[in-house]
Amino acid sequence: MQTSRRQFFQYMAVLGLGSLYTTPLYAKTPKEVVKYQSTPNNGEKCRECIHFIPDTNECKTVEGNIDPNGWCTIYYKDPNYKAILEDNKTTQ
Ligand code: SF4
Repeated sequence: MQTSRRQFFQYMAVLGLGSLYTTPLYAKTPKEVVKYQSTPNNGEKCRECIHFIPDTNECKTVEGNIDPNGWCTIYYKDPNYKAILEDNKTTQ
């Protein structure tokens, strides 16, 4: 049986929809892609990044365990980081 051009594109559309359904939207980026390193970069550290989750040493966008002193190319300093430090000082 020969497949027509129309059938081919219908088949590909179904495959595309299937992959959208099975790919989790919350997938995180692999460390290699963002050049993650477990050491700071010019004083920038994961612990002060807006994506860092300090309770679990995880990142909202990068997969795996994250060192608080690490760094990657999508680092973005949390504008409230200093305020967090000041809060910790007042509670200690
Ligand atoms: S620097 Fe990168 S790995 Fe570290 S918390 Fe920020 S986004 Fe995540």
